[in-house]
Amino acid sequence: MCEMFRNDPRRLLEPSRRSFILAASAAGLLLANGALAKETKTPPKPENVLSPDASLKRLLRGNGRYVEGVARRHDFKHEREALVGGQNPYAAILSCADSRVAPEYAFDASRGDLFVCRVAGNFATDETVASLEYAVAILKVPLILVLGHDACGAVKATIKSLKDDKPLPGHMQTLVTGLSPAVKAIAQQSGNELDNAIRQNVIDNVAKLKGVAPILNAAVDGGKLKVVGGVYRLKDGKVDMVV
Ligand SMILES: [Zn+2]
Repeated sequence: MCEMFRNDPRRLLEPSRRSFILAASAAGLLLANGALAKETKTPPKPENVLSPDASLKRLLRGNGRYVEGVARRHDFKHEREALVGGQNPYAAILSCADSRVAPEYAFDASRGDLFVCRVAGNFATDETVASLEYAVAILKVPLILVLGHDACGAVKATIKSLKDDKPLPGHMQTLVTGLSPAVKAIAQQSGNELDNAIRQNVIDNVAKLKGVAPILNAAVDGGKLKVVGGVYRLKDGKVDMVV
């Protein structure tokens, strides 16, 4: 009976058919795994994969909509769901903590679009640099914008503290330490002292971030990152590029 079983042509076909089915299943599984791997690598917001120049253009277009009062309606519910698995912002912003300057509003951006670091006086501390390194190295952000604003209280307080030779109370003196170089650098300039210091502080921090080794400077040298600076005008919301 065993012999008969072996010699039965229909049974002889079985192993090859079984192999074929197994091979097809394995291929299907591989294909599925491949697709899954590809899916995992696909950024949550493909439209955010931009060159440094395109990123800046998009920021400024968004600021234009904000200034004109034609900001887009944002679908927070679906945005939240889409971003559970990851993020790929198209720009990083070092902004003042001032409540009147809100980068997501100012650039009419959505969740997952901007990687924002905020500190009074928008100067780069070690922690800020580390955060921006993460944005550039891991999240592949192509643009960093240092965003100052007019009438900045932190810069104003620094000018006064240096003039009066009187440190600020509590931990606030660290802001004076961070902002002093810009205030001192414009001491001989004509024009409005506060405006000049705000502008200089943006210029200085752009230069600092461009040169920080080993991650940010390499990204700039490799053409993968641009670092630019602007000043937000409180009155109309427009961002004037400085550098
Ligand atoms: Zn400020």
